[in-house]
Amino acid sequence: MESEPLIPALTAPGDSPALRFGDRGLTYAELAAAAGALAARLTDAGAARVAVWATPTLETAVGVVAALLAGVPAVPLNPRSGEGELGHIVGDSAPSLVLAGPGDELPAALAGLGRVDVRPVPEGPAPAAPREVSPAAPALVVYTSGTTGPPKGVVLPRGALAATLDALADAWQWTGDDVLVHGLPLFHVHGLILGVLGPLRRGGSMRHLGRFSTAGVARELASGATMLFGVPTMYHRVAEALPDEPELVKALAGARLLVSGSAALPVHDHERIASATGRRVIERYGMTETLMNTSVRADGAARAGTVGVPLPGVELRLVDEADQEVPAGPDGVGEIQVRGPNLFTEYLNRPDATAAAFADGGWFRTGDMAVREPDGYVRIVGRKATDLIKSGGYKIGAGEIENALLEHDGVREAAVTGEPDPDLGERVVAWIVPADPDHVPSLDELASHVATRLAPHKRPRTLRVLDALPRNDMGKILKRSLSAGDGD
Ligand code: ATP
Ligand code: MG
Repeated sequence: MESEPLIPALTAPGDSPALRFGDRGLTYAELAAAAGALAARLTDAGAARVAVWATPTLETAVGVVAALLAGVPAVPLNPRSGEGELGHIVGDSAPSLVLAGPGDELPAALAGLGRVDVRPVPEGPAPAAPREVSPAAPALVVYTSGTTGPPKGVVLPRGALAATLDALADAWQWTGDDVLVHGLPLFHVHGLILGVLGPLRRGGSMRHLGRFSTAGVARELASGATMLFGVPTMYHRVAEALPDEPELVKALAGARLLVSGSAALPVHDHERIASATGRRVIERYGMTETLMNTSVRADGAARAGTVGVPLPGVELRLVDEADQEVPAGPDGVGEIQVRGPNLFTEYLNRPDATAAAFADGGWFRTGDMAVREPDGYVRIVGRKATDLIKSGGYKIGAGEIENALLEHDGVREAAVTGEPDPDLGERVVAWIVPADPDHVPSLDELASHVATRLAPHKRPRTLRVLDALPRNDMGKILKRSLSAGDGD
């Protein structure tokens, strides 16, 4: 039983704009016709699951909307994945068809799948009404970013999509009058669910930059866009560009909402944007498995380094190793566990991993560590697996050391890890990309810089210098590929 459609505006679509990629766009009426026709083909083909070759294009958006209308779970594929990873995902999720743009060349890993070309133009007469689908039915299978291990297929029910988008609408005062600009890839939660389905659920519109550029952001915000979604690497580029791009300063100053997520936004970038534009970027925190958990609210006060409060409907607790709640306060570092209508159903083909991911009472273990500030704001200190360094009897979060290092003029990028140490258990290792390769700051200089900002035991004991940090397509730092042999 379908209680309500995921995209109500497609039921009686009008001529207002829905989606635009570069100079190609569709109104709601056009989207309903194009996606409706494709949905009918998917239904006729009897597809049980479809892959979508998720380039940042109108074809991808129409393909995903069609699959949702047909009630066929869609698996977005990252076109930049290697053959090995694509082979793993296709073998694991077993789609019968792949939806692609007519000009797309598909790799050998997809050769066994039937291909359906997506034509994002209205075809034929008005399509039949969407199939009735229960809120518990799987809508998407999205693979995690693979930051901590091989990507896992996350089965997302239609009801979780609706719940998370409606909770964000409440937190962000997000309406059909909003026009979103983004330049994110479309194979993860951020770019696809928030960035494409979010505006559609509200009946508003989205403009995609194709490739992110600060000039594109300035242009769209100056011509009617109201919101910007980005990952921290994009806001870093914005922060770097502001001194030289007065148009960008003006555009950001006039935006209704600037939102960052997918990884921690460095405090230094947050503050530089705030001082140049008078606007504070809002941070939200989510995962593929849980969709969105917390956000700073549009009517709340954004502070650098915090991800705000639990979204409506989301229960959140911080627990110790024994799943017992830790006391509130600055020392109350615990793992974030969440519960709510925003959660996934299961990891595909991984009953063991699914069972291990939940504590008693249905609480999902996020693997992220945080503290609660006195006003209830959540401050993430890092991931349990890679960002918690046990040194000299202390538990040290990598995030605050990274933030301190980034405030040093000689540091462009920074990552902090722990490495075994005979005296300390683990020692703090700073990996940096220098601002100027001819003037690399010394370990002593960086250690005393950190020690003036944070407790002395948090200072780095080892320095490694790189030309660039290893990052994935979302700009997340791949800490598992930082190992002792690397660096100068
Ligand atoms: P994998 O699970 O495959 O290792 P991943 O966890 O990076 O990869 P995603 O589901 O895309 O895959 O990312 C979720 C993670 O991103 C969260 O668990 C958290 O660590 C991080 N994250 C998301 N938003 C924020 C934020 N605003 N601040 C800090 N971390 C964030
Ligand atoms: Mg994860």
